Amino acid sequence: MNTQLKSKTIQIDGSIGEGGGQILRTALSLSMLTSIPFELVNIRAGRKKPGLMRQHLVCVQASERISHAVVEGAELHSQKLYFQPQQVQAGKYDFQIGSAGSTILVLQTLLPALMIQAEPSDITIHGGTHNPMAPTADFISQCFLPSLEKIGIQVDFECERAGFFPIGAGQINATIHPWIKQTQYTALDKGQLIDIHGYATALNIPSSIADRELEVLHNKLNLTQRQRLNFQGISQGNTAFVVLNYEHHQQIFSALGEMKKSAEKVAHDLAKEVKAYLATDAVADEYLTDQLLLPLALGKGGEFSAQMISEHTRTQAAMIQRFIDCEITFTESKENHWYIQVNV
Ligand code: ATP
Repeated sequence: MNTQLKSKTIQIDGSIGEGGGQILRTALSLSMLTSIPFELVNIRAGRKKPGLMRQHLVCVQASERISHAVVEGAELHSQKLYFQPQQVQAGKYDFQIGSAGSTILVLQTLLPALMIQAEPSDITIHGGTHNPMAPTADFISQCFLPSLEKIGIQVDFECERAGFFPIGAGQINATIHPWIKQTQYTALDKGQLIDIHGYATALNIPSSIADRELEVLHNKLNLTQRQRLNFQGISQGNTAFVVLNYEHHQQIFSALGEMKKSAEKVAHDLAKEVKAYLATDAVADEYLTDQLLLPLALGKGGEFSAQMISEHTRTQAAMIQRFIDCEITFTESKENHWYIQVNV
């Protein structure tokens, strides 16, 4: 490492705040965007199995590939990483996670650096598409990307094959278009609720599981429409999700089937989450909130209301402000309602 770069290098302690994988992914995204190298220590120190897991390692390797980075410490279980990007290159890329690790989190790591290139990129990622503690492919297509579209970011996304733990073997394809027209994000009022759609799927397990979930969701939420989906793929798994269409916002809540948890209980817990959101007039749910901060900070900023501010969101804001000159503020206006402002 040359001494000039070393002095510019941002030092990050991975045990701060939430102490999870997001610190690594955000550092990778921001480093590729700003060309500032970083050194990360105590990677995922807050987790039971600390260090780089398969999904995190693929995030590093994929970032290394698209930015021709100089990297040290990119090994499974490594708790220290040095990353120095060179030139980010748009293009056609194919990444294999080689486990059921989340393809979506890899895509979200690469997206910021690729969307600011002059040429589009075609990305294919193989692995998990419906993982616990990560956005599902449905969350991306029904909520995250429609929100980004409002600030001018265009991504064509397709979940070609679903991948559930432990086999994975899913596949997502995304075309990331150059971000040409940057628009400020304002989402303080979601407007009237237009409809509530419930979906469920059971991949290579009895389809009655999905039907039972839809029945419970309908009873609890009075769905406008319900549909059993047929996913393709070789893994086994189940997901149910509810899409709420408001005049000015689209929000999704999703659940995954679990061993020893009945279909009824999966749907019951999901309906409870949806009801909590229906009871507030906040726009973004907990997860969309942390995922929106980076795109807003890269564009023209904005303001929105959120149901809650997680530790994850606070950690994300702190990370962004280490690389980019911007101000992110959270103000609690009433119960279950926060006001978020991103000033650039
Ligand atoms: P670790 O294994 O270290 O916990 P990780 O790499 O799995 O880390 P996190 O740091 O926990 O990931 O980040 C998870 C990301 O997934 C966050 O951006 C969060 O918003 C998102 N996420 C988690 N659960 C959901 C959900 N149910 N719907 C949508 N997004 C979700």
